[in-house]
Amino acid sequence: MHASTVARGLTCLLPALSQNPHDPYSLMTRQELPVPDKNLDVVFPQEEGNYLLDEDGLSTLPSAASTVVRWEEGLIPQACAEISQDPTSVGDNCSLEKVEVYNVTYADCSEEPWVFCRCPDAADNLQDVVTHFGQIPVLARDFVRHVVLGADFTTPEGIVPGAIAIIEDGDIVMYGENSNIVLFLHETGHLIDQRYQPEGSDRSYAENEEFRNIADNDTCVVDEYAKNSYSELYAQVLPVLAYEWNIGAINELEGVADDTCMSGVKEAITGQVAPYLVHQAENAALAPPVLLWSD
Ligand SMILES: [Zn+2]
Repeated sequence: MHASTVARGLTCLLPALSQNPHDPYSLMTRQELPVPDKNLDVVFPQEEGNYLLDEDGLSTLPSAASTVVRWEEGLIPQACAEISQDPTSVGDNCSLEKVEVYNVTYADCSEEPWVFCRCPDAADNLQDVVTHFGQIPVLARDFVRHVVLGADFTTPEGIVPGAIAIIEDGDIVMYGENSNIVLFLHETGHLIDQRYQPEGSDRSYAENEEFRNIADNDTCVVDEYAKNSYSELYAQVLPVLAYEWNIGAINELEGVADDTCMSGVKEAITGQVAPYLVHQAENAALAPPVLLWSD
């Protein structure tokens, strides 16, 4: 099977193929890194976590109109070919020969399509995923290079992720039937966190001292999942901000506590993601993100 490289233009996304090894963010070696205090209070109830924001609002955000065109059979982007062979991304259940590849062009970024790759046993309905991804405000969507749909997956460590972000490349793998806007916002949060990686550090912004200190001064986090690592803590805040800016205050939702106890991280993350997360038309006039990847 041929591998074809795909580069999105500068207008809407970023130059493509990086040679960096895959590093599924959600699976990074957490043991080596400091983690948030497990005893912190949580704002969202234990069961649902911030998925409550999907059912109660974010799922109703408008999605950019889209056109989906399948690639000629036998062609696959290099990155999708690599992901389909990567035991830490999809395991053995994504046959390279059977990956379906689609150009997905959204009306709010008509210059260049996003490329979606679908493994043969992926359970999510492609059009649903296209719709969920199109609900992400275009400037935040712009951090993402490829979207890969995979079957349910258990990592060699026994973790069953809903999705992963491959932060070096900007690719998101969505597993099983997990696709929704909250998960896309979370994974996009990892990509934005990586964009703010401090100079000289090999970790994202959230895994560095400045953010850890801010988080440690708060007395709560979004939900239990946010306690897994400082980068998960960061990514869990994005759906909260998207909800507040596009829909309303979260503490009006049933079962959700007052979140002033995490105002430190909210303020820090707001400064980084605000330009990318608002659905207003004037957003189109904002400058595009600084390039995430250099050649
Ligand atoms: Zn994550």
